[in-house]
Amino acid sequence: TRTRVVVIGAGPAGLTVANLLRGAGVDCVVLEAESREFIERRPRAGFIEEWAVRALARHGLADRLLERAETQAQFEFRFAGERHLMRTAELSGSRHFVYPQPLLVTDLVAAYADAAGGDIRFGVREVRLHDVDGERPAVSYRDPVTGERQRIECELIAGCDGARGVSRASIPAGRTVLTRHDHGVAWLALLAEAPPSAEGVVFGIHESGLGAHMARSPEITRYYLQVEPGERAESWSDARIWDALRTRLAAAGAPPLTEGPLVEKVVLDMHNYVVEPMTYGRLHLAGDSAHLVAPIAAKGMNLAINDALLLAQALIAHFQGDGSGLAEYSQACLRRAWQYLEFSQWLSEVLHGASSGDRFRAGTAAARLRRLLGSRSAAEAFAGLYIGEEADL
Ligand code: FAD
Repeated sequence: TRTRVVVIGAGPAGLTVANLLRGAGVDCVVLEAESREFIERRPRAGFIEEWAVRALARHGLADRLLERAETQAQFEFRFAGERHLMRTAELSGSRHFVYPQPLLVTDLVAAYADAAGGDIRFGVREVRLHDVDGERPAVSYRDPVTGERQRIECELIAGCDGARGVSRASIPAGRTVLTRHDHGVAWLALLAEAPPSAEGVVFGIHESGLGAHMARSPEITRYYLQVEPGERAESWSDARIWDALRTRLAAAGAPPLTEGPLVEKVVLDMHNYVVEPMTYGRLHLAGDSAHLVAPIAAKGMNLAINDALLLAQALIAHFQGDGSGLAEYSQACLRRAWQYLEFSQWLSEVLHGASSGDRFRAGTAAARLRRLLGSRSAAEAFAGLYIGEEADL
């Protein structure tokens, strides 16, 4: 087979690229390692920033999202037994849209494959990239049904296969630089079949560790508990989890937590990486394959969408004879990625300082919080970064 662009990975990044290319009449093929059912159910992110929703809507990709997503205009810090509201929408003029990632993925697959008849191949095995730095790039894979290897000749490759994909791994050593940062903490990510116990997001800052609450739907609530890196989810029984959540989210006047079955329990190490540049030869990385942002500030999916919008635009321009977008693609994405990484790191200190066991870190974290709560200009700057800015940062 021959196509113009092979998109590897059908996550938010790959599916956004594919939809935009298809919309502009640029031929592409999407290769996805998992089944359609699997990716339409995989629980992950929940918040989409307003600028990203607007951008998806401009391409006709947000109809269901706009119909079904709730928006959040504020969140709460709880510490020292008190509740402090941050009115982020009033401070920034923008909102978060609460739309679980599997729903977005479902919509994007339907738009590309069902409505537009796009070519997407699920369950592909052993994906390999060929001649990425040469004139005749190609991607091959093993067909899940016949077991035969298939080869797709192409002009460009979009590497959208997430943190553990094959795209980044096929870049030879020394051609890109990978920068890592570890926050030194882990979060136990939980999904409870229980209605939310507060409006929106609550960060409970506590010396025994962070406890967080995130309303997802009338029936589902996401909770996070800070745990030691390397801890196993199995060492947290349901009773121990609810006990810790109650302690860490406690504050005067706060309603009690509504408990329910915990349907997901995974430990996530809070670490980040960035690949620079995001381009090697004819391969352009987008989303988590290029940069991982610990989910502290809920930024990963938004960055993936930002990359995808820029990449699709640059690819379309390239096929119309204008290569400038592709030449600048990596730098444009990395500008926002570094802003979001910096904000995540800043917020990480605020959230984890109290439990660091280090008096200096605890003291500076408390100072940051006091500044946020006491100064309108500090709160406005914070809210702009928390919700994500439209403008190129
Ligand atoms: P992915 O969504 O990882 O998609 C990559 C796709 O490529 C997958 O479908 C995968 O199956 C496929 N693939 C992998 N390897 C191959 C291969 N070799 N060949 C073919 N296909 C392959 N972000 C937010 O913005 N807000 C949040 O609230 C938030 N919360 C999160 C909570 C959790 C628990 C986690 C884990 C993440 C969270 N994130 C959040 C991050 C967000 O989920 C990711 O940033 C986002 O999924 C990145 O999209 P992507 O398209 O780059 O990669």
